Amino acid sequence: MKAILIIGDGMADRPLKELEGKTPLEATEKPFLDELAKSGICGIIDPISPGFPPGSDVATLALLGYDALKVYTGRGALEAVGSGIEVLPTDIAFRCNFATVDKDLVVVDRRAGRIATEDAAKLTEDIQKAVSEEEFEADVLFKNTVEHRAILRLRGPELSNMVSSSDPAYVGRRVQKIMPLDDTLQAARTAKIANKLMTFFHEILKNHEVNEKRKEKGLLPANIVLFRSAGKLPDLTPLTLKYGIRPAVICALPLIRGVCKLAGMKPILVEGATGTYATNVMAKAKAAVKALESYDFVLVHVKGTDLASHDGKVSKKMEMIVKIDGLVSYILENTDPEETYIAVTADHTTSIATGEHEGDPVPIVLRGPYVRTDDVAEFGERACAKGGLGRIRGKDLMPILMNFLGKVKKYGA
Ligand SMILES: [Zn+2]
Repeated sequence: MKAILIIGDGMADRPLKELEGKTPLEATEKPFLDELAKSGICGIIDPISPGFPPGSDVATLALLGYDALKVYTGRGALEAVGSGIEVLPTDIAFRCNFATVDKDLVVVDRRAGRIATEDAAKLTEDIQKAVSEEEFEADVLFKNTVEHRAILRLRGPELSNMVSSSDPAYVGRRVQKIMPLDDTLQAARTAKIANKLMTFFHEILKNHEVNEKRKEKGLLPANIVLFRSAGKLPDLTPLTLKYGIRPAVICALPLIRGVCKLAGMKPILVEGATGTYATNVMAKAKAAVKALESYDFVLVHVKGTDLASHDGKVSKKMEMIVKIDGLVSYILENTDPEETYIAVTADHTTSIATGEHEGDPVPIVLRGPYVRTDDVAEFGERACAKGGLGRIRGKDLMPILMNFLGKVKKYGA
């Protein structure tokens, strides 16, 4: 037996006036998702607990069966791992932004005009070179990823992830001093090193030739690096050990890929999978079916539904739901129904109306040879609430799936 879990990021939503009181999921024609609901069992999930709005990293940890609030140790390290950077248990990683500030360190643009990856790479190279010639109280690795994004990893003894961010989060505010968030020596030490690095990076960047050229072209200079979301590795028992399975993940987002890698899942890279509206969902579907030949459990993550909600774009969200329906159709057609469990859910609700993650539950459907079907015939927030799975927590999902795969050990005599 095999299982495939499809997660539409932020796919669940609230009823919208412009959809005559329906949610985007309810208002979209999605015959294959509805087919799953008809032939499977449905329910709703509180990713963490009722009313609690989680980030995608926390929600994914929960959907993989972890006690997310206990194991979560900040986003930085997860994103670093997902970006292919080695992180040791004693390391601290920040996710960083190249940004633009004025002479008073007031933020003009938090993404340096979404600087091209090429330009960011040149700046990164010089920063890393200068850093390696200087003494800091920790080993420093700085690496750009895509556009304005980068990772800073500190390695050494006595470091802590309990430090604040230097990103003021809004344009027009001054860059923040990084502060310790508890009274340990480690946090104070980490904050001190990070502040020193911030200034050091700024000195390199402010008159850098790449920035001079950018200014000549009318582009914003990337004259500062903002350090955000300090994190360290969470202590996770990998799924391989917990359930004795071979798990894999198909996901374009470094953050979610990082979570899954730490859960012992093999990341499968798919060409055309971008984490944007333009992502090639069919390529993901094909890769997922192929992965099922070698892996017991395959997670497929699609980001666009969440993006659309943050952007407040109803039609984009509905388009992404249609794409997910296409993914389901391919999987239904190309897997053996006697051998495959298929589950579809969202990691959290992202409301088009508020543009934010919300604490409302999300729908879940599960189809497979031995599930007890129910009378639900539609995949949607309200329809699934009437289903046979009832209302479960995010961390209940993995045991439910793994039980069908015969991977949950009996407890007791
Ligand atoms: Zn989101």
